[in-house]
Amino acid sequence: MRKKIGVLALQGAVSEHIDQIKKLGGNAIEVKIPEDLSTIHGLIIPGGESTAISRLIQEIYLYDPIREFAKNHPVFGTCAGLILCGSSITDGGKKLKSLHLIDIAVTRNGFGRQIDSFEVDLDIKNIGKNIPSVFIRAPYIASVGKDVNVLAEFDKKIVMAEQGNILVCSFHPELTNDDHVMRYFMNKISV
Ligand code: GLN
Repeated sequence: MRKKIGVLALQGAVSEHIDQIKKLGGNAIEVKIPEDLSTIHGLIIPGGESTAISRLIQEIYLYDPIREFAKNHPVFGTCAGLILCGSSITDGGKKLKSLHLIDIAVTRNGFGRQIDSFEVDLDIKNIGKNIPSVFIRAPYIASVGKDVNVLAEFDKKIVMAEQGNILVCSFHPELTNDDHVMRYFMNKISV
């Protein structure tokens, strides 16, 4: 059976994820209502504006269904999606209701205004060396719980981690032609 991955499509960078999944032979759909979750094997929460996505998740009653889905399916949060998957926010977003899927504390817009966006080559544990990574007003992971596996750091800040089914990164893997990160996520999915 083909792996079917949903991309939460409330706000943010959706179509690039869908294109990359399809290039890798997967099936991809936009997730807009709770019922969509019952048809997929894995979920991506994309980059965008975490406060807006968080508000919409609650407005359309996706908060509990996503948490339920994450108990036994892989979920990948990129950039704003990382903020939403986290368990606490150290600053700049205390009003945001995150999903508490992974035991990390997050600092929003953590790389400072002067470098709003940049691209670097990252060495990512389990994935590979020199992976091009695009950061856009990116958060970083300020601290991790004991069950969290740190996968990458940049500038002494944690930018990628996983805990069981849940994978998060500060950057936008879907905005480059390098598909190592998406491949890694898709390998977490068994159908
Ligand atoms: N700065 C955004 C936020 O805090 C995240 C940016 C992004 O997803 N590229 O929600």
